[in-house]
Amino acid sequence: STAARKTLKIGLIPADGIGREVIPAAKQAIEALGSDIPRPEFIDLLAGWETFTKTGNALPHETVDVLRNECDCALFGSVSSPSKKVVGYSSPIVALRKELDLYANVRPVLSVAPEAGQQPAVDLIVVRENTECLYVKQEEQTIGENGKEARATRVITERASRRIGQMAFELALARPRKHLTIIHKSNVLSITDGLFRETVRKVPTLEGLNGKYDDVTIMEQLVDSAVYRVFDVMVAPNLYGDILSDAAAALVGSLGLVPSINAGDSFVMGEPVHGSAPDIVGKGIANPLASIRSAALMLRHLGYTKGADRLDLAVDQVIREGVTLTPDLKGTSSTTEVLNAVLKRI
Ligand code: ATP
Ligand code: MG
Repeated sequence: STAARKTLKIGLIPADGIGREVIPAAKQAIEALGSDIPRPEFIDLLAGWETFTKTGNALPHETVDVLRNECDCALFGSVSSPSKKVVGYSSPIVALRKELDLYANVRPVLSVAPEAGQQPAVDLIVVRENTECLYVKQEEQTIGENGKEARATRVITERASRRIGQMAFELALARPRKHLTIIHKSNVLSITDGLFRETVRKVPTLEGLNGKYDDVTIMEQLVDSAVYRVFDVMVAPNLYGDILSDAAAALVGSLGLVPSINAGDSFVMGEPVHGSAPDIVGKGIANPLASIRSAALMLRHLGYTKGADRLDLAVDQVIREGVTLTPDLKGTSSTTEVLNAVLKRI
């Protein structure tokens, strides 16, 4: 039966900066899982600022083709973006989300419990819609009575709200508390946020679900108050989700710990929340834990719960022990030392 065991094809896109230091670490952590996941096969792919400077394209067609046609999932590192606008350059991560229709950005924020088995102080998930809202980038500037006038269009559709809502209900259902909070500002934006709110609320009544989400408690919160009161699973339109997910990440200290996935109906891509960290690149001290957690989240999304649990537990142990940590967590260890500590616990 081992001969028949499926392979799991994983695209690796380290891109720029510390992405090249932490994505290889995540790869090794996945390899250490052995038979808890299908045999992994890794495909190295190019994207990012350096790829742009060499080829004139931040996201080569080949990368998209291989991801779409050959890979089951991918891990993305980080991109360094130019400080000024450069003609022809646009973010490859934004393009990838579009090309692969990765409409959800899922970001769990978890602080480590002081003792094994205790409740962590922060344990929540932000589910951010990733394709519309103000990010449709329809802006214009005109001259009016008051001088220059600038406006931006915000688009909320029923389809996008419904599918992000459904993904959020799934995530809420899988958690002990089963609470889903809809984040909006429909007291001010009654048409756009009103549509988002109503559509997400109606998800449990969709045909074919047969009461699947009956155990999920639906709550609502205005986005401004959500930044100081945080909840179990929060679902939000693109802009609010962007802000909330960074605010939530700040609750647990280092960016080097927070993972995410970009998910659609047929593809999932893990991505640490941090950027390319130009201040520490090449020093061998980048924290690999956000990337390893992103790999866990990706595997969990694909249904490989056991493998995902082993990665998460190993990371939790290393943090809780507090002996082998990178400088962002006040430790003195290197990327490789932290990785090795994780591998040992896996
Ligand atoms: P970018 O423009 O690519 O986002 P940035 O300058 O905003 O780059 P970030 O990567 O967002 O940098 O990181 C912000 C700070 O957090 C930096 O000081 C960086 O060194 C630190 N940091 C981010 N990720 C990590 C990590 N994995 N390990 C250690 N420190 C990190
Ligand atoms: Mg940054």
